Amino acid sequence: MNLVRVALDVPLPTLFDYRMEHAGNELIGARVLVPFGRGQRAGIILEAGGEPNVAPERIKSVAHVFTREAPLAPDVLHLMRFASRYYHHPIGQVVMGALPQSLRRARIGSEEAPVALTPAARAADWSTIPARALAKRRVLEHLLAHGSCQPAVLRTLASNAPRALRDLIEQGWVAPETDLPTALAAPGDLSVVPGPTLTPDQGTAVEAVGDTLGRFAAWLLLGITGSGKTEVYLRVIERVLRGGGQALLLVPEINLTPQLEARLGARFPGTTLVGLHSDVPEAERLRRWRTAESGQAQIVVGTRLAVFTPIPRLGLIVVDEEHDASLKQQDGLRYSARDLAVLRAKQRQVPVLLGSATPSLESYASAVSGRYKLAELRDRANSRLPSIHCVDTRGKRLREGLSQPLTEALARGLAAGEQSLVFINRRGYAPAMICFTCGWSAPCTRCSARLVLHLEPLRLRCHYCGHEEPVTCACPNCGNQDLTAAGQGTQRIEHAVTQLFPAARVLRIDRDSTRRRLAFEQMRQRVESHDVDILVGTQMLAKGHDFPRLTLVGVVNADAALYSTDFRAAERLFAQLTQVAGRAGRGDAPGEVLIQTDFPGHPLYEAVQRQDYAAFAQLALAERREAGFPPYAHQVLLRAEAAQREAVDRFLGRAAQAGRKLGLTVEVYEPVPATIARVAGRERGHLLVQSGSREQLQRFVDAWEPHLSGPDASHVRWALDVDPLDL
Ligand code: ADP
Ligand code: ZN
Ligand code: ZN
Repeated sequence: MNLVRVALDVPLPTLFDYRMEHAGNELIGARVLVPFGRGQRAGIILEAGGEPNVAPERIKSVAHVFTREAPLAPDVLHLMRFASRYYHHPIGQVVMGALPQSLRRARIGSEEAPVALTPAARAADWSTIPARALAKRRVLEHLLAHGSCQPAVLRTLASNAPRALRDLIEQGWVAPETDLPTALAAPGDLSVVPGPTLTPDQGTAVEAVGDTLGRFAAWLLLGITGSGKTEVYLRVIERVLRGGGQALLLVPEINLTPQLEARLGARFPGTTLVGLHSDVPEAERLRRWRTAESGQAQIVVGTRLAVFTPIPRLGLIVVDEEHDASLKQQDGLRYSARDLAVLRAKQRQVPVLLGSATPSLESYASAVSGRYKLAELRDRANSRLPSIHCVDTRGKRLREGLSQPLTEALARGLAAGEQSLVFINRRGYAPAMICFTCGWSAPCTRCSARLVLHLEPLRLRCHYCGHEEPVTCACPNCGNQDLTAAGQGTQRIEHAVTQLFPAARVLRIDRDSTRRRLAFEQMRQRVESHDVDILVGTQMLAKGHDFPRLTLVGVVNADAALYSTDFRAAERLFAQLTQVAGRAGRGDAPGEVLIQTDFPGHPLYEAVQRQDYAAFAQLALAERREAGFPPYAHQVLLRAEAAQREAVDRFLGRAAQAGRKLGLTVEVYEPVPATIARVAGRERGHLLVQSGSREQLQRFVDAWEPHLSGPDASHVRWALDVDPLDL
């Protein structure tokens, strides 16, 4: 029987069988429309041929084959299959979830747009096409003569013209006409605006990475803040473009894309550069995805999902701020875009460049062990590192959370016409409303968390479930009329700064103030055009931004993270403080960083002050080795939630039992409630499994997974989180 197996967006770990007239391997990766249940669904063919899994008479036929895009390329399919297996997520959901929205929909649209030759095809030497590739030649010549043409017409030119057309699209020689910019530069005449003279370290890095183009190499680019990592990316990308290749750049956050796109655009005017992230309207996103997929976009910049973008002439992958936790998806397919980028690079035999001033300990350990290659930028490119000091706040009177030395430094900055940043990683006005008579604090009724006091509008808000309520005037417990807003959030610091410096232009940047689309970008531009004197912001501001006039950074309320139970807390705090400190003094004037703390002698703050990542990392790695934590062990977390605590406990308890019975060499821990045990009325818990061997762990999970969906699981929602980042 002519059979194809199709990946569909349904939560089952299987493919679905359909009949198809000419079911050959060339259809693998093609998008199709198939009958499913009472309706139709879009899917991707992953296998062709073989015997059906169900009775032949029950197998329905494929309703339609979409030809607007080339079938998904083998490397993308490989990546998806790997992600499904490794992260234990249904294959159909992985495949369909990686496509632009409109391609997931079961609609036959105007997918048969006319196609035309791409500039790459026009610039290429056609005499290298083998004489026997007759169909290919016919298609090319027809397009050359006619300019553009309906694919249906081209398919009639020879018996294997459909195949030839798909190949030409895949290799980036033919593309939908509408996607072709009118004047697209061919690789030969790439125009490059000259960059600065490289520092010696930059030069060495560019040469070393450049030497690995055309084969697989995983590079860790460890460069202190402001050392010019972006410049290294630009130079290596330039080489890729000169060779006719495409480059893929992944960034952890959408807010980082405009600045990066601007720098790329300024360096390579005339190249086709596309940004793929969730802020782009769907129709435009599809167009851009197609530009990448057809080979026209020379540079693709995107957030984590972009790692799945088909890129026919992929020559390099860059992962910027590779330490950032946002590169890991926290629901659905819980994948690490960084780790998948390395896998994809290996499969495509291209280098991958992971850049950071504070790499993840996983990546750093790989560089130390020689699995990754290490390139280092040890000095700032055109400025000096800031000086970092702790401000001892023990027993000191703070004014709304601000110390005397920080206030004075802010005043100095203001007088000198420089910009300052007060960093506090907590939004809202105050993290709790407390009654000091009886100890009551306003709780969220649906979560095991306190409500946060917010201004504009004045509300108590839960940061876990979004619940809101009016501010209580009296303690419901003891009737006390004098409730206290305890602690500080960004709004309170903003308020304090405005009171202290009425003439200063103060701008608060956090998730609340940047909710509107493009709000962050507008604020960034205000900072850049020196329309702001004092910034108050959360970790949104700690990432990768280049604000040349910013000279002072004050850190408020970082101490809580020192005593977190999460074994990654120290790594995260070190990275965050180093990154936020790294925003200071990137221009001509030297930078200063003041960290307010009750623990000025804490080893972590000392490490931050020394600004020596390697020393910190070696110590931290020694501790991890001692404790048997990642990267010296691998982990899988079984996460579960249900309306009743008892259901969660029973499910996890049985899961632990079933796991231990398998008798494999992994460590199955005891189930525990999540740090925030209840969110939006759902009780949450988890179970950690750990092993020194990734293979062992994967074998364990394969054997374990079927035991998880027993009768206990009926009211429980559970998920496996492979390489979890927070426990
Ligand atoms: P990083 O990404 O490492 O934090 P950037 O690439 O943003 O650093 O560079 C920091 C600043 O240094 C930028 O303003 C950049 O234009 C400048 N810069 C980078 N390389 C050089 C160089 N070789 N000479 C002069 N300035 C440079
Ligand atoms: Zn009270
Ligand atoms: Zn809540």
